Amino acid sequence: MTIRKYRMRFGTGWILLAFLALAGCRAAHLDAVWSDAPILGLDDILAPTSASKSLVIHQLERGLDQDRTGSDAWCAAKLRIAALELELASADRAERAAREVLAAVPTASPEAQSLAGLLLGRALVASGQPAEARAAFEGAKRLATNTRLASTIADDLAAVRNFEPTEATRVDLVSRATWGAAPGKVDRMDPMGTPTRITIHHSAVFCTESPKRIFEIARIFQRTHIEDRGWGDIGYHWLIDRTGRVLEGRDMRYQGAHAGNNASNRHNIGICLLGNFEPGHTERAQKPSTAQLRALEGLVRTLSTAWNIPAHQIFTHQEIHPHGVGATACPGVWLTPFVESMRTRFRQEWTAATH
Ligand SMILES: [Zn+2]
Repeated sequence: MTIRKYRMRFGTGWILLAFLALAGCRAAHLDAVWSDAPILGLDDILAPTSASKSLVIHQLERGLDQDRTGSDAWCAAKLRIAALELELASADRAERAAREVLAAVPTASPEAQSLAGLLLGRALVASGQPAEARAAFEGAKRLATNTRLASTIADDLAAVRNFEPTEATRVDLVSRATWGAAPGKVDRMDPMGTPTRITIHHSAVFCTESPKRIFEIARIFQRTHIEDRGWGDIGYHWLIDRTGRVLEGRDMRYQGAHAGNNASNRHNIGICLLGNFEPGHTERAQKPSTAQLRALEGLVRTLSTAWNIPAHQIFTHQEIHPHGVGATACPGVWLTPFVESMRTRFRQEWTAATH
């Protein structure tokens, strides 16, 4: 049985290899794809790869031996798939792979289960479920078989604790699925890395749309950014409508396209309030709504707490580009003073908390 299986896998491997050769892949690239099977351990599972992640996933899935469910090799392959799916921003697929390992008890070793809990937690954070993520991390921490794994999980756990909503950070979140976002084009986006600053914008378009119509506006934004501008996704990470709802924009793991150029966008979270807050131009102007300002403050508080972003790293778009090419009045004279007062409040809170 083993020999037949081996032959079968060997055969399909060659078909795939021939397909890749025909598709014009370079030899160096193929070497990287046809790498050794991952070993069960933190370093191997989370190792960065320069190869095509989707091809590596494909290779690992083909190599899975279903008769050996729960074995170290099977768990390592599943966990590596989960880690790569997370990098591809496919949180649901990552979640599925991690859950399969957790379901393979008692065969899966405590180390495999601990790693699965870590990846499951990360997938749940990525899909906006902090409470469930915390439970996954806590389970993983109990099973951790070495101190490095335990401390990695502890770091993730500490970060997710910061995301817990309090009265001051409560925001009315609208997921991408709810507003009908198309999938982002991952190959057109750079990783964000750790965010170190936040930039606030207005949409510069008078906004009267009903809460229901707002989803259509977000879809138009996304379509324009992807199709007309050639970007990977909607440029902003977050959008706030007139009723104070916070719409999920571009996945936070990817650098945004909102502050004017690559240097300005680096490690920079983009938030856009819908409306035109700059009077005196051809477009009709309006003041930001109270609900919108409250939501902005809650969102900025959540983000700056989660990523340790100090008050002086919170900017208006105009502060990023005051002069020359790309100079802008964004987010307008009717929103700018609020950003300034918010910064002062955060600075005072920060000082109070550390003294
Ligand atoms: Zn702007």
